[in-house]
Amino acid sequence: MEVTGVETAGDRVTGVRTSEGPVASPILVNAAGGWSGDVSRLAGLTVPNVATRHEILATEPLKPFLDPMVVRTSDGLYFSQTVHGGLVGGLTVAHPPGTAAGVPSSPRFLTSMARALVTLLPRLAPIGVLRAWSGFYDDTPDGLPVVGEDPRLRGFVHANGFGGHGFMLAPAATRRVAATVLGEPSDLPAEQFGPGRFLGAATPSTTERLQLG
Ligand SMILES: Cc1cc2nc3c(=O)[nH]c(=O)nc-3n(C[C@H](O)[C@H](O)[C@H](O)COP(=O)(O)OP(=O)(O)OC[C@H]3O[C@@H](n4cnc5c(N)ncnc54)[C@H](O)[C@@H]3O)c2cc1C
Repeated sequence: MEVTGVETAGDRVTGVRTSEGPVASPILVNAAGGWSGDVSRLAGLTVPNVATRHEILATEPLKPFLDPMVVRTSDGLYFSQTVHGGLVGGLTVAHPPGTAAGVPSSPRFLTSMARALVTLLPRLAPIGVLRAWSGFYDDTPDGLPVVGEDPRLRGFVHANGFGGHGFMLAPAATRRVAATVLGEPSDLPAEQFGPGRFLGAATPSTTERLQLG
């Protein structure tokens, strides 16, 4: 079911329009990942979230040979060997920001990744790629997630901006989101994680540009 619109009355959420009809609700949790900016805009809210596409692949299994995760900061190459023996990893390939292009795997990524891996470890040359896929990081200017009610629209709760760390952060973040929905006090500092931090004159930002996912 796709959310196609947000219903409001004054400064409150009253429901959503969806591909299967309207749903009345005083609370909307925007947990739309890379599409969270699109959903915020449906409610007329300007947010700084940007969807950036990242690609990853998995090779056929090899005998165990690699214990650590290998990371090269110059081009974002990273890979590790899973318990099943395959290598799983990615490489930063520039894509236009936004969700418009969807999430197919690109030949450019496959060739760049293969070249990077084989240059570093020539013995990998005959190893086959089993599958490759891509998805979106939902990036924020300061690299931190956005968790909390939007001060501009009551009932509109953000649970987004997880960048390349959403699996890791989910257990902690979802407990806080649930507390917010229930109207309980949150132990997350709003000035660090709340959506209001982007509404001032100065936008908080980070210089950390390499994210591994
Ligand atoms: C290649 C890659 C590797 C990664 N590796 C890691 C990793 O190792 N560790 C880690 O912690 N994180 C990793 N991440 C990041 C992690 O995948 C994300 O942070 C996490 O999936 C975000 O979860 P989410 O539930 O917020 O959003 P998502 O999982 O993206 O879910 C959002 C959902 O909202 C739905 N949606 C969007 N728009 C609408 C709408 N209008 N109406 C209804 N539904 C809508 C989408 O269909 C989707 O199902 C990786 C990401 C990528 C792309």
